[in-house]
Amino acid sequence: MFYIANEDDIRNGRVTDVYFERASQILTARGLTKHVAMEIRTKVLPANWEWAVFSGLEEIMELLKGRPVDVRAVPEGTIFSPYDPVMEIQGNYADFGAYETEILGLMCQASGIATRSARVKLAAGFKPVFSFGARRMHPAIAPMIERSAYIGGCDGVSVGLDAEKIGIKPSGTMPHALILLVGDTVRAAVYFDEVIDRSVPRLILIDTFNDEKFEAICVAEALRDRLYGVRLDTPGSRRGNMVQIVKETKWELGLRGHGDVKVMVSGGLDEDKVGELQKFVDLFGIGTYISNSPVVDFAMDIVEIEHKPSAKRGKESGRKTLLRCKGCGGRTVLAYPGDITVCAACGGTLEDIMRPVMTQGQVIADLPSASRIRDTVLNEIKEYSVKEKR
Ligand SMILES: [Zn+2]
Repeated sequence: MFYIANEDDIRNGRVTDVYFERASQILTARGLTKHVAMEIRTKVLPANWEWAVFSGLEEIMELLKGRPVDVRAVPEGTIFSPYDPVMEIQGNYADFGAYETEILGLMCQASGIATRSARVKLAAGFKPVFSFGARRMHPAIAPMIERSAYIGGCDGVSVGLDAEKIGIKPSGTMPHALILLVGDTVRAAVYFDEVIDRSVPRLILIDTFNDEKFEAICVAEALRDRLYGVRLDTPGSRRGNMVQIVKETKWELGLRGHGDVKVMVSGGLDEDKVGELQKFVDLFGIGTYISNSPVVDFAMDIVEIEHKPSAKRGKESGRKTLLRCKGCGGRTVLAYPGDITVCAACGGTLEDIMRPVMTQGQVIADLPSASRIRDTVLNEIKEYSVKEKR
């Protein structure tokens, strides 16, 4: 058997902490069917992040569909910071309280991955970044991982099924195994060129047997203008100065009339290494760093009981909303409904970005495609990078 929960297990709330089930059992037995508003936010982000990318809403809508709850949320792809509310669920506690484990699980990991992906895209100076890290994670959640990576800004994902669910074509080069089995890099490149559909870019791995520079030249001369790029996945034990290896490879290719051949680097990259290589590399393949992103520690708390403010110690009671300035992008948290319309920082117009997305189990908001969400994220982080440079 595979140790996974199937879709029915998730929909029926079977993947939940037992104490929620017991709480519901007690409340039902004692007739305490109280109406609550519960708020989701995080007090702190991992790895000193100042902001994160909200992801996971579409799956939460799938989970709550048909249940007697009302939900307000920020759209997927929204940039948020600690203490910003991202979602509010209202209804009788007994009707949805036991889903807390699943609701949080659907957003904490997805948001972490989308954030790492956005950070890598920023570090790459918006050059193409591909998610190659599915192999480090349980295959059952690979589609969620790669959707989140794509939403955060990755340009492509490597697993066929994952790409299909996003609505894009999978991206990949060639494994070392192919080159080892063929026995020669140039011959493997020629076979790839002969066998694989013309629509797939010829991106050849050049670190299997010999020096990157010499393999790159041989491959470029064999494939000529059909060669799209070369990929350096140089092992850590041979890596030395990667910037220099890339510069030298490009120099030698350029000298021989192959200056338009792209250079992709992959293998153990993180956002710092991507930042160092950014000026010299055309494409990046990122594995574990994105797929194994730290999670965002969202918590779900009661803020109102029977329409009266009520919250535990350490938590502001009452329903809240999140406003975003159309001018400076700054965010303000206000008691719901937020009645301030002018940004204190720049005088710009504030808009409420925590909007109704579900009424009594019916999805009432537009749930945009992954590529539309990705466009939003890229626009927002571009603004962010401009601000950083000021
Ligand atoms: Zn403003």
